[in-house]
Amino acid sequence: MPGTLPIRDYDLIICDIDGCLSPEASLPFDLAGLAKVAQHNTLAIERGDRPVLTVCSGRPQPFAEAMCRLLQNSIMPCVCENGAWVYHPGTNVYELDPAITPGHLEAVGELSRWCRQQFGVSGVTEQPGKTASVTLYHPDTAYLRSLMPKVAEQCELRKWPFKVTMTWLYINCDLQHVNKGTGLDRMLTACRLEKARLVGIGDTTGDRYIAERVGFFACPGNAQPAIKEHAHFIAPSHEVRGVLEILERIGTN
Ligand SMILES: [Mg+2]
Repeated sequence: MPGTLPIRDYDLIICDIDGCLSPEASLPFDLAGLAKVAQHNTLAIERGDRPVLTVCSGRPQPFAEAMCRLLQNSIMPCVCENGAWVYHPGTNVYELDPAITPGHLEAVGELSRWCRQQFGVSGVTEQPGKTASVTLYHPDTAYLRSLMPKVAEQCELRKWPFKVTMTWLYINCDLQHVNKGTGLDRMLTACRLEKARLVGIGDTTGDRYIAERVGFFACPGNAQPAIKEHAHFIAPSHEVRGVLEILERIGTN
C-alpha cells in the first residue's frame, strides 16, 4: 500500500559464489536460475520489501564485480578474494584490507614466483586476478593436492605469513590474518547491519565465517556435511536452484 513502510524480515543476504550461485566445476552458468536471483534483487531495490543478495567469495574482485552486475546488485558491497577486498558496486570503490601492508604484498610476490619456478614446468598455474593471495590450479586435482605440503613447508621455512588450504579444485594461500570473516566485518561495519537481520548462504567449511555472522544460515543441497551442521535450512536442490529455494524459504521469492 502506498505510504506504508515495507516489511521485511532480513536486510541483506550474503551468498558464496562457487557451489552456490555457479557450479563448482568450470561449467556454464545456470542463466535461468541466475535471472531469477537478479529479478529478486531488482524487486528488492525497487520495493525494499526483501533483502538484496550480495556475494562473499574467494574469487578475485573482477569476478565478484561481474556477479554483482549480473545479479542486479547495484547498491550493496561485496567481499572478494577471501576477504582481502570489499567492493562497492554503487560507487565502484575498491577497498583493500588496511591490515595488508606492503610487506605482505611483497610476500605474495615472492610466494607466487617460488610456485612458478617450482611447479610451473609441471603445468601448475596461478589463478589470474588475485592481488593479496596466491591460488594454484592444475587439471589433475590429485597431483595438485600432493603439492600442498610442499607449499606449506616453504611458507614456514621462509616465514611467509600464509595459511595454505585445499578447496575442491585449488590450493589457496591466503594471508593468515585475512579471511571471509575479516572482509565481512569490514563490510558489515560500513553497512551498519545487525546480525539478526542477515541471511547467509554457503557450501563449504570456509563459509563458516558467513554462518557466524548471520541470524539465518542456509546451504544448497550440494554443500559439504560439515557446513550443513551450521545451517538452519538445507535446500533440497543444488547450487543456484538451491539458492532460489532458500529465497523462497525466507519468504522473498
Ligand atoms: Mg563455495
